[in-house]
Amino acid sequence: MRKAAFSLCFLLFSGAVLAAQQYDLVIEGGRVMDPETGLDAVRNVGIRDGKITRVSVEPLSGLRVIHAAGFVVAPGFIDLHQHGQELASQRVKAFDGVTSALEMEIGVPDVALFLKSKEGHSLIHYGTTASHAAARALVFGTPLEPEIIAPNAGIPDILPKSGPATNQPATPEQIGHIQQRLRDELDAGALGIGMGIQYTPGATRLEVIDMFRLAAERKVPVYTHIRSFGRSEPGSAIESVEEVIGAAAITGASLHIVHINSTCLLDSLECLSLIEGARARGLDVTTEAYPYIAGMTVLNSALFNPGWREKLGIEYSGLVLPDTGEHLTKERFEELHNSPKPQSVLVFANTQEMVDATIPNPLVMIASDGAPGHPRNAGTYSRVLAQYVREKKTLTLMEALRKMTLMPAQMLERSTPAARHKGRLQEGADADVVVFDPQTIGDRSTFEKPMEPSVGVHYLLVGGTVLIDDGKMAPDVFPGQAVLGAGRAK
Ligand SMILES: [Zn+2]
Repeated sequence: MRKAAFSLCFLLFSGAVLAAQQYDLVIEGGRVMDPETGLDAVRNVGIRDGKITRVSVEPLSGLRVIHAAGFVVAPGFIDLHQHGQELASQRVKAFDGVTSALEMEIGVPDVALFLKSKEGHSLIHYGTTASHAAARALVFGTPLEPEIIAPNAGIPDILPKSGPATNQPATPEQIGHIQQRLRDELDAGALGIGMGIQYTPGATRLEVIDMFRLAAERKVPVYTHIRSFGRSEPGSAIESVEEVIGAAAITGASLHIVHINSTCLLDSLECLSLIEGARARGLDVTTEAYPYIAGMTVLNSALFNPGWREKLGIEYSGLVLPDTGEHLTKERFEELHNSPKPQSVLVFANTQEMVDATIPNPLVMIASDGAPGHPRNAGTYSRVLAQYVREKKTLTLMEALRKMTLMPAQMLERSTPAARHKGRLQEGADADVVVFDPQTIGDRSTFEKPMEPSVGVHYLLVGGTVLIDDGKMAPDVFPGQAVLGAGRAK
């Protein structure tokens, strides 16, 4: 009897030990890389309850074991600049190694509606800024129609058509109402203020400063597409970078300048030197780029107000419709610019040389500006790994991973402490993990076939759930969660 009791005790005890050591999932024998600690070694990774709970040289036992020998095991990539929030875009992002894709440049027109529509329907993590352009349109009496982002429903309408709401200055009273709308959107969970200043050229310098004041008051960053591109003064790209750095200096708000390469074009390195100077003076200014020579935007937006050809240094034929490959003429441009229907357009205005000089710069994070129609939606991250790490060797693998994981996570930390658990391959971090083959990872999307998924990502974990399993998308799982601003009203 005593012996039996002892055995039972022993069984219970060993069962408890076994349970303590058993992980939901173990990633075994991969090259684990963590840009924050500099760890770059073969390790086993134990995952339980959606968290990385163990990173170890010792063998670990798991309910499931993924064999990762020869593969890199890294934090899932965080894309701060993703417009396409529907499932087709999320699917290609996943194959590109992305576990979080957020709409930060412009922001969605209605934060609460956006978050509600994504809940339980998202492959990867999502989040958004509060949209200055949408708040302005609302206050001017021409609100954007926020489409519900149901599965496969297409991207939301985020840019107002060129008109009074984009081109006219706001009165002090209107500025007050815009700020109030943005406060409400921050209370709904927005991660900052998105300002596409070039899309609202009627916004005065003072209006811009007032939005930065609000960001500083709420302790969130401003993410911005700056006022202009090109070299003609006044209104150059350099002046536009100065404008937002000035607003950050005046107010104390953190500032993130989106796609430095596609706004500053041939002056990209000069623009980076302005950011470097501001940072050296203690300002919190960051930036990002994507690895393509063409941009993409919407033809009826205020970006194409008169003067765009001079500023961009291109002709009508430099504008190409993504669906058909049609190069525009003056007549066709005017028809589409004046149409109430938004039409995406590719803008070929940069050089490969400038893109190649921008991507390796240590100040530059990688962000895709992704939406259907442009290959950057599907290929940005694996293209950087293939072209700049493997082929040109202008980035080390660890430097590239830092630009894709830790740097954007640190940017998000300005808005939410939850981001401290993202962008890291460490014990205690969220189990957002990409397992890829560094020898074969690469983009396949092109301007002709922009939605071709990348190759080389063998496994992708989103909050501990296996989304890409042995190179295939797992069916019927939607592990994506909202990344919410700390200002969300309780
Ligand atoms: Zn932009």
